[in-house]
Amino acid sequence: PLVLGIETSCDETGVGIVRGRTLLANAIASSMDEHARYGGVVPEVAARAHLEAMTPTIERALDDAGVALEDLDAIAVTCGPGLAGALMVGISAAKALAVSLGVPLYAVNHLVGHVGADLLQGPGLRETLGAVGELELPTVALLVSGGHTSLLLVRDLVSDVEMLGETIDDAAGEAFDKVARLLGLPYPGGPQIDRVAVAGDPGAIRFPRGLTRPKDLERHRYDFSFSGLKTSVARWVEKHEAEYGGASPLPVADVAASFREAVADVLLTKALAACSDLGVPRLLLGGGVVANARVRDLAHERCVAAGVELRVPPLSLCTDNGAMIAAIGARLVAEGHAPSGLAFGADSTLPVTDIQVR
Ligand code: ATP
Ligand code: MG
Ligand code: FE
Repeated sequence: PLVLGIETSCDETGVGIVRGRTLLANAIASSMDEHARYGGVVPEVAARAHLEAMTPTIERALDDAGVALEDLDAIAVTCGPGLAGALMVGISAAKALAVSLGVPLYAVNHLVGHVGADLLQGPGLRETLGAVGELELPTVALLVSGGHTSLLLVRDLVSDVEMLGETIDDAAGEAFDKVARLLGLPYPGGPQIDRVAVAGDPGAIRFPRGLTRPKDLERHRYDFSFSGLKTSVARWVEKHEAEYGGASPLPVADVAASFREAVADVLLTKALAACSDLGVPRLLLGGGVVANARVRDLAHERCVAAGVELRVPPLSLCTDNGAMIAAIGARLVAEGHAPSGLAFGADSTLPVTDIQVR
């Protein structure tokens, strides 16, 4: 089936078109620049930007795919989790398209969409980091972005996804953005920290690994916490300034490298613990933080050591996009699932077990 997918859960307006599992278009507009001066995504600003970007992005996707609206067999849209106002823009556009074209509409879970990115096939889509064959199930999936840090167990893409754990405070990408700000680096902080960390010593400062003490592991074996780490970096910077004042510049590279190491370490320690506990020798990564060089290297290192197959979709499919939503939509159509109808709304806290909303 030829499916158009719309994604507006955060700051990317994503419109993707797939034919079955073949990627035809992945058009994305981002309002990231508009959020830069606030140091994080502002919901109201994101929603307005989606409204402006929606029609041009749909047109661009159709153009890239070389198809017409009339060719579409179905529409898929992210209905949660995410920013409610932002989600509503995508949902409204998707409903309007489905009604005017007379095609079925599928309301899809954003997190499951990230896993669905792995389904997509096309020239140049499979990169060298990780396995190349078909995705085997079950798999553990680690999704890390500015809005979420989740560890999932995926037994079936459209019928059986379980949340093993998630962050109890900040998301990993959010921690990158906050620590970058602390170090005087611009938003978004992830790429900036990655850039300056290259010149630093990751062992210079031992920052805490959240929820890894034996007592914490009893209740939070697969959960994450990054707010303590962020505070610890803030304290370290304050202490350095109090001790040296202007006499010694802040060792930004060492702080960035040590912080990045702490995040990568705790992410992969927990993900591989899940693989080992559950006897699942596969790990799939998704989300914008997957761009992080240390996260990628450490994932590769630890997976090789543990005999775990690592899968990493190309970065353009790791960050938020409409193609991954279209991929899940196409799978739902192919398996004969009933469409969602028009009565559903946006659910900002949609649980991952609700893969399709009706
Ligand atoms: P959602 O949480 O809904 O997926 P999002 O817009 O926050 O939305 P993405 O666009 O996938 O998620 O990712 C953006 C986040 O990824 C930002 O927090 C950014 O700092 C982080 N990020 C991007 N590149 C890197 C990098 N090289 N290292 C670390 N973090 C990065
Ligand atoms: Mg984003
Ligand atoms: Fe996302």
